Amino acid sequence: MTEKYDLHCHSTASDGFLSPTELLKRAHEQGVTALALTDHDTINGLAEAQQAAAAVNIRLINGIELSVTWNSHCFHIVGLGINPENSVLQAGIRQIQTIRYQRVAKIAKLLEKKKIFGAYDAVIAAAGDDGMITRSHFADFLLAQHHVTSEQEAFDLYLGQGKAAYTNTTWAGLEDAVSWIKQAGGVAVLAHPMRYDLTASWMKRFLTAFKEAGGAGIEVITGRFNPDEVRRSADYAKNFGLAASVGSDFHSPKNVWVELGRLAPLPDAVSPVWELFG
Ligand code: AMP
Ligand code: MN
Ligand code: MN
Ligand code: MN
Repeated sequence: MTEKYDLHCHSTASDGFLSPTELLKRAHEQGVTALALTDHDTINGLAEAQQAAAAVNIRLINGIELSVTWNSHCFHIVGLGINPENSVLQAGIRQIQTIRYQRVAKIAKLLEKKKIFGAYDAVIAAAGDDGMITRSHFADFLLAQHHVTSEQEAFDLYLGQGKAAYTNTTWAGLEDAVSWIKQAGGVAVLAHPMRYDLTASWMKRFLTAFKEAGGAGIEVITGRFNPDEVRRSADYAKNFGLAASVGSDFHSPKNVWVELGRLAPLPDAVSPVWELFG
């Protein structure tokens, strides 16, 4: 049987809409046979996901999506095939989680300056006891309170870079994040390379640093790629000796443009990232 991979998605452990169990059920319905759950800066969804995966006979790859700052720019590094029990990785995650919690208070204060109250309590309640809070939670709050008419508008008016409730955050260092993933036995993969709004020369500088740090893969196929972006990402993979990954970055069934497992095949010229993990 040929595998159907999806190596990037989110659950309620971070800013996904479905619980790990609901996510695995949906992945199964979509024909996915190997799924990586990659929540933002948390591994809290993995235990439930493993159980649910066994029930529907999906191979669940333990994953995470780490928030990284390199040269004042935010990048997302997906770790695939990590051991969630690894203490170095766990300590690193805690470091980023502290940054996330501090940022929640900052964003809420900035919204208060705009006479928008109650965000802090609302996002904490929405994320649950051990869920990671992202800007998506603030977007949902702003939408529910009718301050905006769509999630996108919440980013455009308040949460996006340079907007009223935007805070500049220094996340984990690139070398640290890659080394945590490697020490936990995982493969470090650059997520959605076309979403960073970087010039080609900065992208090359970043990929050089990523490769030097031990980065091993790059997403070549993601949920909303066009053929030109696939070609450019595949070129990066070839030129920097990176393995190619495929991941929808699925968050919610409400986004009709992105579905679990709905991914184009990898171009022939690249080597698939799954050859790197056991
Ligand atoms: P954070 O890591 O807290 O900065 O939040 C980033 C998350 O917000 C991403 O993973 C997306 O799920 C979501 N996001 C970022 N930008 C946008 C946008 N323009 N529209 C909708 N969602 C976005
Ligand atoms: Mn997200
Ligand atoms: Mn991301
Ligand atoms: Mn993601």
